[in-house]
Amino acid sequence: MKSESFPTGVGTVNDGFVHVRGASENNLRDVGVSIPRDAIVAFTGVSGSGKSSLAFGTIFAEAQRRFLESVAPYARRLIAQGHTPRVEFISGLPPAVALQQRRGSVSSRSTTGTVTTLSNSVRMLFSRAGDYPQGAQRLDSDSFSPNTAMGACPECHGLGIAHTVTEESLVPDPSLSIAQGAIAAWPGAWQGKNLRDITSKLGYDVHVPFRELSRTDRDWLLFTDEQPVVEVIPQRDRIEKPYKGRFWSAKRHVLHTVSDSKSQPQRERALRYMRSGPCPLCAGTGFKAEALAVSFGGLDIARFNATSLTELAQVLALPAAGEGNDVAAAIASDLLERIEVLLGLGLGYLSLDRATPTLSPGEMQRLRIATQLRSGLFGVIYVLDEPSAGLHPADAEPLIEVLGALKSGGNSVFVVEHNMDVVRRADWLIDVGPGAGEGGGNVLYSGPVAGLQAVGASVTRPFLALDAAPVLPAAPRTATGWVELNGIYLHNLVDLAAAFPLGVLSAVTGVSGSGKSSLVSTVLARVVGERLKGGNSAGPHPRDTEADAEAEADQLSVRSLSGAESIDRLVRVDQKPIGRTPRSNLATYTGLFDAVRRAFAQTPVARRHGYGAGRFSFNVAGGRCETCLGEGYLEVELLFLPGTYGPCPECQGDRYNPETLAVEYQGKNIAQVLGLSVDAAAGFLAEIPAAARSLRTLQDVGLGYLRLGQPATELSGGEAQRIKLATELQRARRGHTLYLLDEPTTGLHPADVLLLLAQLNRLVDAGNTVIVVEHNMDVVASADWVIDLGPSGGDAGGRIVAAGTPRDVSTHAHSRTAPYLRRRLA
Ligand code: ADP
Ligand code: ADP
Ligand code: ZN
Ligand code: ZN
Repeated sequence: MKSESFPTGVGTVNDGFVHVRGASENNLRDVGVSIPRDAIVAFTGVSGSGKSSLAFGTIFAEAQRRFLESVAPYARRLIAQGHTPRVEFISGLPPAVALQQRRGSVSSRSTTGTVTTLSNSVRMLFSRAGDYPQGAQRLDSDSFSPNTAMGACPECHGLGIAHTVTEESLVPDPSLSIAQGAIAAWPGAWQGKNLRDITSKLGYDVHVPFRELSRTDRDWLLFTDEQPVVEVIPQRDRIEKPYKGRFWSAKRHVLHTVSDSKSQPQRERALRYMRSGPCPLCAGTGFKAEALAVSFGGLDIARFNATSLTELAQVLALPAAGEGNDVAAAIASDLLERIEVLLGLGLGYLSLDRATPTLSPGEMQRLRIATQLRSGLFGVIYVLDEPSAGLHPADAEPLIEVLGALKSGGNSVFVVEHNMDVVRRADWLIDVGPGAGEGGGNVLYSGPVAGLQAVGASVTRPFLALDAAPVLPAAPRTATGWVELNGIYLHNLVDLAAAFPLGVLSAVTGVSGSGKSSLVSTVLARVVGERLKGGNSAGPHPRDTEADAEAEADQLSVRSLSGAESIDRLVRVDQKPIGRTPRSNLATYTGLFDAVRRAFAQTPVARRHGYGAGRFSFNVAGGRCETCLGEGYLEVELLFLPGTYGPCPECQGDRYNPETLAVEYQGKNIAQVLGLSVDAAAGFLAEIPAAARSLRTLQDVGLGYLRLGQPATELSGGEAQRIKLATELQRARRGHTLYLLDEPTTGLHPADVLLLLAQLNRLVDAGNTVIVVEHNMDVVASADWVIDLGPSGGDAGGRIVAAGTPRDVSTHAHSRTAPYLRRRLA
């Protein structure tokens, strides 16, 4: 659809449409399109075709710009630097709210309850309708939050965690003497020396192994609060003057440093000698004792928050506790109504206290969608990014109902979506393409869904048809062995036995919350990883050492593991970002940038100036722009928009200083090379074999449209995952690698899914094992083996309902996946 003539002024007539004219953000080619309001509109097209550039980059960005313009002239100036979409005009545009899939940037104290604001109502419920102990005073609702001064446990300040010191933590090696530094928690250098001199002067033997001192002596040295002052003659140097020295027990020193030191490194050092555990006063809940004494439906506030939403719905459905208390009944029924929306979105297995960093981006987005239903906003456009991500096909139906509820609240719902079950149910379809990047950027179709069938150029068309060509599974490959796990315990997996075939492609399926990620991404990854430890278990990215992974390790147990001997490498290809700052990009991550920098260093101009490859790095001083330290961006601080980046005023985003930019390789400087798309670079860098190989694998996974220097912060989770996959594919390896992938089709158009499948099959044909957690039935139908978890989510899941070839599983009577799988099998 080309931009048609559209007289200025007509657009102000309220005809129920958003009229976009002359949109050319990113790859969009002068797009003109009219989109109905008060409708569910699906944006489709292959990855990189320009869907997001239209829905988020143009429509949402323009709505946000206008909103900011109306409220904050100061912010307008800053936003205008980077966020004014390239579009001639848009009319009929209401305010817009974007609900994108984003991980991180939420504080670690944020939970399911706080992001949905359900916690506010729960506190009210306990305050007004809770069962109080005889004679106790009613508490106000703040008392039921560990995050307020009123409600926090006085011991741990609401964190639920207590830091304590023990003999083991303070003295890691008791075979050492004090003189040899047994009390490791004491400071180092001269301060530590002083303390040892003082101890000696106090009459303790500092030359015997610490464990040989008496219990009383050890306790005093480590834990006393006494601080005797003694006159000390420094032993090493008799010429030094005697001085008065004050004794600090190891505990006192550590606590003092943690609470009073101004030096972050010193505080961190001291923390290493402390052990963290649940706070003894509140049993790790963070609540005050008075609050814990109140209950609702037999649950105290901590248990209430730890109970799954499915069970809470049952508790709340019982007649309100305080009979005749209208307010209580009203709060309870309101809570119930809101929780039911979450159940409908397949999130019933979550509890209110579940920390948001442990949620997948798809779960997070669905929580926010549900929350919007209550916002009371109307007349806005909600712009959503693949709301079906992480959803089993069985849960697509309720999702559509919730989107429908947003619409009937008087709003427009624009979704960028790949799931054809959702797309088919939209009121209107906008297909962008036909290809990605330069090969896309046109609106091929805009109209009611059925009309797409007439658009021959659309890549989406064949997948939209209900009778889309079913998958014909190739003759299933046979397993070369089996990894068997017994007695698995984690989250909702209870004494589970599971067997995974080696040398084939397996798909693990099941409704959201059934335990797929727990089984594959945590249990299997960890036990196989442990086995390989010391070996080469590192994936293409550093193992994450996040604290929650450690906490999880404590709950995880597996009785036995067998058959993993032939695996010599484990690689997890997940959707975590490849970096959290604009400093990482696909060129640095895949390693292809090293080859490019070496090529620049070889040019005559670089040699004349003596520039090595390091000169062309934006991560070290020398060649980079020093204003932005090579980031090309500066973080713009805005009160209400955390972490916004604007281009660097010195280098305009080029990242390098002028001297470096003067060096050219085949007519382009280093910044221009970073600006090339993978497709363009594949031609331009063809003579650099290492780079060419990387670029080819990036094209193979459908990422030809990305720019080499595209900051990690601009990449979607699906793109990050495919970059990791390409990085794996580019290295030719022998041996047997186990690849674990969690929903690799997120963000992929059905046409891109076929590309991805071809790559996964390549890995299997090379003798490796691939296990994917998947909802996409095309992938499941073409796997060699399927493991279906369920039957439902949370405690109603965690069991293997069916396992076998796709055909076997598709005929299983109790599998919720079976009917959907059957539909896709020829
Ligand atoms: P889709 O949503 O269909 O996957 P996008 O709209 O994200 O596609 O991308 C369309 C094209 O624009 C791609 O070539 C992509 O690399 C490019 N692109 C996306 N974001 C940016 C950006 N912030 N700056 C420059 N180019 C971008
Ligand atoms: P799936 O991958 O099938 O969606 P999960 O493995 O994520 O399922 O979840 C299975 C169960 O384990 C759910 O009840 C979920 O709430 C729980 N769970 C998952 N991750 C965590 C976690 N980090 N902390 C607590 N419970 C968790
Ligand atoms: Zn406490
Ligand atoms: Zn700069």
